Amino acid sequence: MRKSRQFYPARRETNVKWKSDHEPKCFRCGGNHTTANCPQRDKNSKPASANVGQEVHFTFVTEPEAMENKPEVPTQDAFSLHSLVNAGKAIIDGGATASVGSADALDQVQRINKELGKQRDVTLDFNSSPSFRFGNNGKTQCLSTAQLEVPLAEKTGKMKIHVHDIPQQPVLLSIAALRSLGAVIDFSDDTCILKHIDASRVIQLERATSGHQVFPLTQDIFQNSKQRHTSFVSLFDSSSE
Ligand SMILES: [Zn+2]
Repeated sequence: MRKSRQFYPARRETNVKWKSDHEPKCFRCGGNHTTANCPQRDKNSKPASANVGQEVHFTFVTEPEAMENKPEVPTQDAFSLHSLVNAGKAIIDGGATASVGSADALDQVQRINKELGKQRDVTLDFNSSPSFRFGNNGKTQCLSTAQLEVPLAEKTGKMKIHVHDIPQQPVLLSIAALRSLGAVIDFSDDTCILKHIDASRVIQLERATSGHQVFPLTQDIFQNSKQRHTSFVSLFDSSSE
């Protein structure tokens, strides 16, 4: 029995659902192909109907310009933003009000899950496609909203991600998702406790070359965790009220 942990309250969805051990499915049209191979990819994205008023706000991250004056210090576990997409990992982004990700990134998540032989369902809602502002690109309308199954503490969590078609952008894990996980993050050493999932384990987060912390979408983030003697309660002293 797998217990589903909802990062978000579930809503009734009109949608396409598939299992990752089956054919790939398209985040643009729901067809049996990867989004990259969608026959509709060159058509104008969405009909203007869906949720035009809804707007997602977030601080988008851009790959920093090469820093010529600083010596490159290669870190074994460091990911560039592009390699994050290939690795099926999201960026923890406290500036994002909703989680977003490119169809490229989610195609890759599907591919990895299939390679791992993991059956992880994805539900797509084509009636939920908010628009958002993306750096200098102006307003972009999402293709769909996906509910991804993500391994979490030996169980399965669901993560809601708005899917856009800006190439090769990683998934950004929003402040709303972080809140629902009960995330407490120590930025000095990239450790994290997800209070609402397991308050007795300390997760060691990976850090991208850009400095962003990273959340894996195809592996269990608790793989890199250590057991505490007690459950974490609060940053306040236990004696304080
Ligand atoms: Zn398609």
